Amino acid sequence: MDVYSIRQPLGVVAGITPFNFPAMVPMWMFANAIACGNCFILKPSEKDPSASLYIAELLKQAGLPDGVFSVVQGDKVAVDAILAHPDIKAVSFVGSTPIARYIYENGTKAGKRVQALGGAKNHMVVLPDADVDMAADAAVSAAYGSAGERCMAISVVVAVGDVADPLVTAIRSRLPKVKVGPGNEAGSEMGPLVTGEHRDKVASYIAKGMDAGATVVADGRNHALAKNGDGFYLGVSLLDNVTPDMESYKAEIFGPVLEVVRVGTYNDALKLVNENPYGNGTAIFTRDGGAARAFQFEAEAGMVGINVPIPVPVAYYSFGGWKSSLFGDTHMYGPEGVQFYTRAKVVTARWPDPGTSKVDLGFPRTR
Ligand code: NAD
Repeated sequence: MDVYSIRQPLGVVAGITPFNFPAMVPMWMFANAIACGNCFILKPSEKDPSASLYIAELLKQAGLPDGVFSVVQGDKVAVDAILAHPDIKAVSFVGSTPIARYIYENGTKAGKRVQALGGAKNHMVVLPDADVDMAADAAVSAAYGSAGERCMAISVVVAVGDVADPLVTAIRSRLPKVKVGPGNEAGSEMGPLVTGEHRDKVASYIAKGMDAGATVVADGRNHALAKNGDGFYLGVSLLDNVTPDMESYKAEIFGPVLEVVRVGTYNDALKLVNENPYGNGTAIFTRDGGAARAFQFEAEAGMVGINVPIPVPVAYYSFGGWKSSLFGDTHMYGPEGVQFYTRAKVVTARWPDPGTSKVDLGFPRTR
């Protein structure tokens, strides 16, 4: 008796993606989906739809048969049609938490397999023994890269004990060097935000933090490009002495605003990370291997960095958060992506010699 399992494609699957990575996030999905034998329908963000069409053109040039990769443009109307369509067997989603929850609830209700990745508020814990310059470089890079519009951006630095003053000084000294400007201009390091509306919302959290008692160390609203009103620019902002009850701490700001929360001990820092409703990524900066090892087990987040501020896994691991940062059971791409886009079948087979069979009302046995 031979017993073995095979994994087979689901059929037609769909991906619904956010504005901030119009090429990369769809690729997290369709590469695995198509390699596993599925046809893929992409519903990109209505805010930047053209990258999806360019990808479709490239796939056609590469010889992909028509219908294996399709693009449907639109907003909620297109999303709801995908969720209701009986021929679509699985939905991958990346975007904000309220919509991720909606996609998970409605997709699973319609009998689909769903993985829905949501928003984030990623904390970088800096212990007193950390290399302050290294931690400051990492905080600035991770907070302001892509103007903070990355789900793995660091938005909170948790300064433990007496590292706080030197760390804030080191971060502040780096801020004037961040070059804000158009993305297509040589030397620009940080571009504008996605829309004027989003820029204004991000800026409102600087005011809210200030009103609630945070110390505004740098105010991006004062940047010349933010002031002249041409384009959706905001300079880099740094808020110190932020506390968890402040609205600016609770919100996923999704812009170039870094907040510093000061705590007394490692345990206070861990509590802050674990009590946050989001759990995408988190990082610890320290030279203490024991503390780092404890943190990797104790932190409630799907991706942990040790002296690495944005621990996005390489492609042979999978990407995903915990808590309100992911609804569903599997993370994206890598081995869990293969699992998501295939279903298992177990085959039990025998090739008996003629004349050896007899009636047996029990289950097949392996002898
Ligand atoms: P969003 O949730 O507004 O939109 C994402 C997708 O959902 C888009 O395709 C959009 O058309 C669709 N959508 C929007 N409103 C809808 C509604 N009411 N009903 C049905 N569909 C709707 O997100 P966004 O602003 O494009 O992207 C930023 C968000 O994405 C941030 O919260 C960020 O953290 C998150 N994000 C998460 C990850 C991750 O891996 N966890 C990666 C990138 C971005």
